[in-house]
Amino acid sequence: MRPDPSDPGAPSRIGIFGGTFDPIHIGHLVAAVEARFRLGLDRVLLVVANEPWQKVGERAVTAAPARLAVVAAAVDGVEGVEACSLEIDRGGPSFPADTVAELRRRHPAAQLFLVVGEDVAASLDTWHRAEALPEQVTLVVVRRGGMRPVPAPAGWRVEPLDIPALDISSSELRRRLAVGEPVSFLIPDAAIRCIRSLGLYAEGR
Ligand code: ATP
Ligand code: MG
Repeated sequence: MRPDPSDPGAPSRIGIFGGTFDPIHIGHLVAAVEARFRLGLDRVLLVVANEPWQKVGERAVTAAPARLAVVAAAVDGVEGVEACSLEIDRGGPSFPADTVAELRRRHPAAQLFLVVGEDVAASLDTWHRAEALPEQVTLVVVRRGGMRPVPAPAGWRVEPLDIPALDISSSELRRRLAVGEPVSFLIPDAAIRCIRSLGLYAEGR
C-alpha cells in the first residue's frame, strides 16, 4: 500500500538497505530505486557495513571508508537514495539489530523498511539479537535473479519486491576488476572513477 503523498503529516517511510557493497553495482541500485518507488519510501539508506561479521575471515574485505566513498559516488544525484555511514561511525561488527535500534532512536515516528535480497532473507535466523526486529520493521524481500524463491520468513511483516532480474554480484565484479575485464554499465561511471582513483580491486590484489 502506497501512502498518500499529499498528506504532509504522514510519518516518513525510510528504507534501510544494508550490505558490504564491495563494490556497489547496479543490482543494488535497481533494488534501492524500485523499493523506494514501489513502497513509496521517502528515502532509502544504503548502509555500508563496517565489519560484515558473516564475511570476515572468508576473504579480505575492502576498507569500509573506501566502500562508502564508492557508494556515495554511485548515488550522487540519485533522488531519495543515500549512502549511510552509521555502521562505520559506530565501528566494530555491523549487526542489523543495532542499526535499526539507532535509526528508530533518530526517527521515532518513522516507518522503517528493512530491504534484503532473498539470499539474506533466507539467513535471518542467523542474525544476532534479531528477536526484536520483526516488530520494528517491515521486511522487503527483493527477488534476486537466478535464485530459487525462498518461503517468507515466519513472524515478520513481509513485502515481496520483484525487480528486473540482474544476475550480478560484487564477487563477479571484483573478479572482473582484478583481471581487467569491463565493468561499464554494471557499476555507475562515477563509482568506477572512484574505484580507479582509490586503486581498489586492481590486478594482483
Ligand atoms: P558478494 O558477491 O560479495 O556477496 P553481493 O553482490 O551479494 O556481494 P552484498 O553487499 O553482499 O552484495 O549485498 C547487499 C544486499 O544486496 C543483499 O541484501 C543482497 O541480497 C542484495 N543484492 C546483491 N546483489 C543483488 C542483485 N543483483 N539484485 C538484487 N539484490 C542484490
Ligand atoms: Mg552477498
